Amino acid sequence: MDCLFCNIASGKIGAELLHEDPHTVAFKDIQPQAPVHILVIPKKHYPNILETDSQEIKHIFDAIKKIAKEQNLDDGFRVVNNCGELGGQTINHLHFHILGKRQLKWPPG
Ligand code: 5GP
Ligand code: ZN
Repeated sequence: MDCLFCNIASGKIGAELLHEDPHTVAFKDIQPQAPVHILVIPKKHYPNILETDSQEIKHIFDAIKKIAKEQNLDDGFRVVNNCGELGGQTINHLHFHILGKRQLKWPPG
């Protein structure tokens, strides 16, 4: 299986990495929707949030908290997970978006 985010996690494909720990990596989104737009992914491949386990989600959210502090997002930020077709998921490797440093509105916006 050829998965873009598996290849980013393993270093086969380059990305602007901002965080790495034994379970997760985080990198800048290639098409940022806000001044801060970071993707946090598990190193292990899971297609989506329904097909992962709670321990993996905990590692991801530990990373999100650390990144939010490092990026000085104490003025607020948004964490997004797009799941499946109607959710707008385009990459089938579990990932969470961190969006910050602009005023966000509840959808649409
Ligand atoms: P989704 O729509 O699946 O929730 O989000 C996928 C995200 O991956 C999009 O925001 C898109 O810009 C980002 N993305 C797609 N291809 C690449 C890539 O090659 N490198 C990086 N850094 N981000 C990517
Ligand atoms: Zn993958």
